[in-house]
Amino acid sequence: MMKFETIAIHGVHGDEHGAVNPPVYLSSTYKQPSFGEFQNYAYARGGNPTRNNVETLVAKLEGANYAYAFATGMAATSTVFHLLSSGDKVLLNNNVYGGTYRYVSNLFEKQGLEYELIDDFRDIDFDKLEDNVKAIFIETPSNPLLRVTDIEAVAKKAKEKGILTIVDNTFLTAYYQKPLSFGADIVVYSATKYYSGHADILAGLVVTNNEQISNEIKFLQNTLGGVLAPSDCFLLLRGIKTLALRMDRHEENTKSVITFLQSREEIKTIYYPTIIPEEYEVQKKQSKGNGAVFSIILADNVDVKVFVDNLLLFDLAVSLGGVESLVCHPASMTHESYPQEIQDKVGIDQKLIRFSVGVEALEDIISDLKQALEKAKIK
Ligand SMILES: *Cc1c(COP(=O)(O)O)cnc(C)c1O
Repeated sequence: MMKFETIAIHGVHGDEHGAVNPPVYLSSTYKQPSFGEFQNYAYARGGNPTRNNVETLVAKLEGANYAYAFATGMAATSTVFHLLSSGDKVLLNNNVYGGTYRYVSNLFEKQGLEYELIDDFRDIDFDKLEDNVKAIFIETPSNPLLRVTDIEAVAKKAKEKGILTIVDNTFLTAYYQKPLSFGADIVVYSATKYYSGHADILAGLVVTNNEQISNEIKFLQNTLGGVLAPSDCFLLLRGIKTLALRMDRHEENTKSVITFLQSREEIKTIYYPTIIPEEYEVQKKQSKGNGAVFSIILADNVDVKVFVDNLLLFDLAVSLGGVESLVCHPASMTHESYPQEIQDKVGIDQKLIRFSVGVEALEDIISDLKQALEKAKIK
């Protein structure tokens, strides 16, 4: 069995001419040999060879049977939500991607669905759940507070009750964490982030081992139509080749940045999967790495705006997972769809800042943070 890094590079093959990279198929339709006779491809929404390559490669990397590629992470997530029927209820951890929250809080009611945000799945008594709970959607580590949920513990209890476990694995990717191997039924990704890695496309993925779920997702992919275009499939394939290299460097940088920040009095709190000992134990069990997204709250005598405005290397922008370092203010930029009371309850503080650490030289990253912290101290 080849290792992840090798599969990422050799997992899909070229063509009959010996091209090292497979060609990109820019055709919306495919000929039938004759009336009533069909080949592998017909109309490109249903499938095309370039998308098929991405899906094959992603399934191999996950060690999974099936994968599907979508136009965006939200197209992947919303397609998965279409597995539910009117009356069903979904439990989600209380700090999820803002777009996922926007979906459940604005569209679920119209679709006859219910949702509930859960502070901590360890507190849930599965025997007391309502019968209409049909899915659990977890993001671990979560966004933007990097809280860790024990996938195995949740999936085991969920399975006993016939509840689907869905994991948004965007922050870690299959290089670090493989939720299916801990009992999850479905994994979703925003491949806009680490999978593609260069902040130049939007893409989403759904992965599963379950044949019935796979068939339904395939049907929904073709029916809802949020498919990934061939040229973006090509960019995603190219990005995946360096996923392991990038993740290693992202994480190495982040580890040192966290150590640096821990030594600074300008920082009040750091949110990262290694910080809370009990959660770190779970993280070590289910993931080979901790990723490169973390959040901080600055000390009271540090001005958030001055700090962010003075960062030179970290662009102030939403998103994460690209080679460039980014900084954002979740309360106004990524989690603005959370009503104030939920922001307060969850802990999305006005002083919270989220970082996505890039693959630049570590000393440049540290010196940028250092000079901005020094300028932001209220004298
Ligand atoms: C970005 C993101 C999404 C949504 O993905 P898009 O590609 O932007 O639609 C979903 N989940 C997480 C954790 C994300 O970071």
